[in-house]
Amino acid sequence: MKISENVPIKELTTMRIGGPARYVLEVDNPSEIPEAYEFAKSKNLPVFILGGGANTIAHDEGFDGVILKYTKTGIISERVTAVEGAPHRVYDVGEDNSRQDPLHIITVNAGEPWDNVVAFACERGLTGIEALSKIPGLAGAAPVQNIGAYGQELADTFVSAEVYDSKTNEFKTLNKADFGFSYRKSILNSTEKNRYFIISITLALQKGEMKRPFYNSIEKYIEVHNITDFSPQSIREIVSTIRADKLPDPAKIPSAGSFFKNIYLTEDQAKIAEKNGYPVYKGHDGFKINSGWLIEQAGFSDKLLHGIRINKKAALVLINESANSYDDLAKARTEIIEAVKNKFGYTLEQEPNEI
Ligand SMILES: Cc1cc2nc3c(=O)[nH]c(=O)nc-3n(C[C@H](O)[C@H](O)[C@H](O)COP(=O)(O)OP(=O)(O)OC[C@H]3O[C@@H](n4cnc5c(N)ncnc54)[C@H](O)[C@@H]3O)c2cc1C
Repeated sequence: MKISENVPIKELTTMRIGGPARYVLEVDNPSEIPEAYEFAKSKNLPVFILGGGANTIAHDEGFDGVILKYTKTGIISERVTAVEGAPHRVYDVGEDNSRQDPLHIITVNAGEPWDNVVAFACERGLTGIEALSKIPGLAGAAPVQNIGAYGQELADTFVSAEVYDSKTNEFKTLNKADFGFSYRKSILNSTEKNRYFIISITLALQKGEMKRPFYNSIEKYIEVHNITDFSPQSIREIVSTIRADKLPDPAKIPSAGSFFKNIYLTEDQAKIAEKNGYPVYKGHDGFKINSGWLIEQAGFSDKLLHGIRINKKAALVLINESANSYDDLAKARTEIIEAVKNKFGYTLEQEPNEI
């Protein structure tokens, strides 16, 4: 276990804001995890689990506590042959019980960069996570907010996670149903925040292709480029190209990706929104309005507010261009939320977690 003191959190997060953490403990073996919690307890300090910091924001005063990071990487692939009618019931990976293709069960250590998992699956022709290509961060954080993009979300293929339960001090398996997944939500970022330390995640994938219709921007791309190959590898390339054009690369440009969640509506609310002329999308998870559209319509596209640039091509993304502090970000956030609320009556909700 590596122990560091007074580490600037801005160096550990992609938004690049935030003062020092009293301690950062890097753990690369499950057996060290109880020891790390003991360390924090002995000093009477709170714990925050951090992955790649792509969905986390820290305050200027820093964190008078212990940040735990899990550094163990590695992907283990295991092929499972379908038994009649069984696989989907056993692994609860979807509605479609008609397919009898073998499931490929993949277990990934939490410290593995997420995109390596997608690359690994696509190289083997496995479908289920190809649209989640190029989402920054580590595999261990993927279930925390049920990452999603371009019509797929982690919950579609998720089976279970090995965790350390810091409340009961024991190692456990949490199954998909335990996570309570919904849009950008699980128990790990709501009712049980900071309780479970994810050690590995297990996914069930299958050979095959995503079903059409694809997400709007993928459909547009394949039409313009005359693409007929919808293999996982091809969809990965398409999604990677669309993302590279639209989203800032966190290695070069500080951001936390989408700063606000999309607005989900009931059917009645959706009818009213449509009457008002707002673009409402119906996905497999319900009716929604793209919050980026609301921000654009409120006049913020490409604006610079307190050092925070509203991304021109995807207004949901706030870029830290020259902000000096968390306060700058908070001021920009308030201005955007108030303007959208005044114009449309919707309240935007922040997506990134805060230390
Ligand atoms: C440019 C950009 C684009 C993005 N695009 C998308 C997108 O398309 N879709 C999407 O869903 N997200 C997107 N994100 C957000 C982000 O990539 C994901 O939320 C990702 O899962 C964060 O991973 P991380 O390892 O950086 O998590 P962190 O920010 O380090 O942590 C996120 C949360 O998970 C918890 N956590 C982390 N590791 C563990 C663990 N091992 N055990 C328990 N809890 C843990 C943390 O406590 C924190 O609450 C984007 C971000 C950026 C910067």
